[in-house]
Amino acid sequence: MTDTKPITSLLIANRGEIACRIIRTARAMGIRTVAVYSDADAKALHVRQADEAVHIGPSPARESYLVGEKIIAAALATGAEAIHPGYGFLSENADFAQSVIDAGIIWVGPNPDSIRAMGLKDAAKERMIAAGVPVTPGYLGADQSPDRLAAEAAAVGYPVLIKAVAGGGGKGMRRVDDPAEFADALVSCQREAASSFGNTQVLIEKYILSPRHIEVQVFGDSHGNVVHLFERDCSLQRRHQKVIEEAPAPGMDPATREAICAAAVKAARAVDYVGAGTIEFIADASEGLRADRIWFMEMNTRLQVEHPVTEEITGVDLVEWQLRVASGEVLPKRQEELSINGWAMEARLYAENPLTGFLPSTGRLDRFYLPNTIRSTRWRDPVRGATFENDYPGTGRIETGVAEDGEVSPFYDPMIAKIICHSETRREAALGLAHLVGDAEIWPLRTNATFLHALLVQPDFTCGNVHTGFIEQHHDEVVFDMAPPPQWLLDPVVEILAKIGDAATPVGFRLNAPARKTIRVMDRGTEFVGNLDSGTTYDQRAHPVVTASDTGVFATLQGTTWQFEIPRFSGTSTGTAADGAILSPMPGRIIAVAVATGDSVTKGQKLVTLEAMKMEHSLVAPFDGTVAELSAVEGGQVQEGVVLVRLDKSA
Ligand code: ADP
Ligand code: ADP
Ligand code: MG
Repeated sequence: MTDTKPITSLLIANRGEIACRIIRTARAMGIRTVAVYSDADAKALHVRQADEAVHIGPSPARESYLVGEKIIAAALATGAEAIHPGYGFLSENADFAQSVIDAGIIWVGPNPDSIRAMGLKDAAKERMIAAGVPVTPGYLGADQSPDRLAAEAAAVGYPVLIKAVAGGGGKGMRRVDDPAEFADALVSCQREAASSFGNTQVLIEKYILSPRHIEVQVFGDSHGNVVHLFERDCSLQRRHQKVIEEAPAPGMDPATREAICAAAVKAARAVDYVGAGTIEFIADASEGLRADRIWFMEMNTRLQVEHPVTEEITGVDLVEWQLRVASGEVLPKRQEELSINGWAMEARLYAENPLTGFLPSTGRLDRFYLPNTIRSTRWRDPVRGATFENDYPGTGRIETGVAEDGEVSPFYDPMIAKIICHSETRREAALGLAHLVGDAEIWPLRTNATFLHALLVQPDFTCGNVHTGFIEQHHDEVVFDMAPPPQWLLDPVVEILAKIGDAATPVGFRLNAPARKTIRVMDRGTEFVGNLDSGTTYDQRAHPVVTASDTGVFATLQGTTWQFEIPRFSGTSTGTAADGAILSPMPGRIIAVAVATGDSVTKGQKLVTLEAMKMEHSLVAPFDGTVAELSAVEGGQVQEGVVLVRLDKSA
């Protein structure tokens, strides 16, 4: 009989959003958490969230997150009873799993033998064929001579896919449409496989046309039980990498679901699977989803990035199940107790710039706010703490590993968050997710949020016409430049500025006639001068978000954020110098002086009004005090940074 003592402490051998996500469940279960971190991650969110954190080396993953000995040493040093590997890094490394077990630590994952059985795509397919699971037609032979491979490709029938058996993450794959291109494609695939996986072995697969990626979440325990938690559709991919995932799969009828889920359970049983795993299938959807046109592709022997959509529709916390199963418990639910509720969709938010071919965008996050409330209009004014909302219902789920003022480093995957929406229908989930993604306020880093938003509202997508070539097919509709901001966006910006101006802020300002001004807009170093005398009406459907924070005013529309540079936020404008000096925030003309030397003033009281850049700025008292010095003269011109008033603070 297996020991079922609950795990009380857990080391998470990962970083970013998945480390944070695992910590959340562990904490809810009363488990002490230990994070590990590299140099670059010293201040990362997962380190701050864990109960304890251990430094494991330099920033490159090869010298930190991928060094098994350091992770095991950290677990032993902190007395962690178990190790959760997350996804990526060491999660599918059977030797590491064995070392963890040999060190007397609980491995939150399948047996090393199951990992090994599914580790190489050719061996996995052989095993599945033996178990009676339908696999993608192709060649799995040991004979890797170019002539033999070419002959097998011809026998399979073009188009074919050459796949590195050790491949992963969409790497080491080449589609070949024409036999004349086979030899070159093979060499290039093998070269990539050698450098990425240290293994040049390839297999040949029939390239499935009208392909859809459908996968099934499976779960086993150490008592021989295996269940499935239904399917996910991950067909929206870019370069074979998932971008948007959903559950259930659009157009899946109950009989086909039954067949594919049964095949997945069979696959898991064939390798005595324990824990969370995913069986990936490729479907020929040229005539809809049909059970006889869905084939096994590979198994991922770990928690999947897109596991939240399954959690949302089943109400199961998969990390909790992993921890229970790892401690020897029986699966919390039987198959009959699991059912699908509604529709869930996830978008992967990357710090990358679609306009430069999706190059990563790294650096500090001056602004990073992902709302979890779906709304069509949102006004948040942190200076006054006021929120203005309207009636669009629903909430989303945010999984992230970064925070405002944090840093996205160049060392790791640029995925900074996952945004998930669960609703009753697919359409609601997609549009709800579009709202959430569109409202993501991020600056100055570039992200794929506008690209995601465009995908989510693309009519073909909304109708469920998904396939793995979708993004390429709609490329020009979903990759486009939003800068500069539309004219009408400036209206709500001015409105929020006026509201802030009403409040007793350290240096207040007021826009006299908001509709007749110009304003400077910064878009990552490029300046635009907006003419606020637009006369255009405010487009309600477009749902801009306008936020004032200590670092600037940001406006966000459909996933793109701009910073509006406001004089108040320029270097010398805070006026809260410790010695009570009120400085001129910019060059301008003094149009009113409201106090005299010796006057006592109260916090928020207007002292001097300055006109600059066609706007009036009221400089107000930052605290209660007495006017000790007054150099501002009505009508006088002043330079930026000049002391206008000096206050003595009241005792
Ligand atoms: P990886 O290990 O990189 O995830 P997979 O074998 O899972 O590799 O394939 C990744 C993606 O490549 C799939 O999701 C699918 O979009 C595409 N793909 C894989 N095999 C085929 C195939 N035989 N026909 C068409 N597309 C395929
Ligand atoms: P709502 O009823 O909440 O306004 P919509 O269906 O109009 O919902 O829009 C949901 C999301 O899709 C919003 O982010 C909106 O900006 C976007 N959207 C809707 N239609 C279009 C369109 N034709 N072009 C671009 N974005 C659109
Ligand atoms: Mg895969």
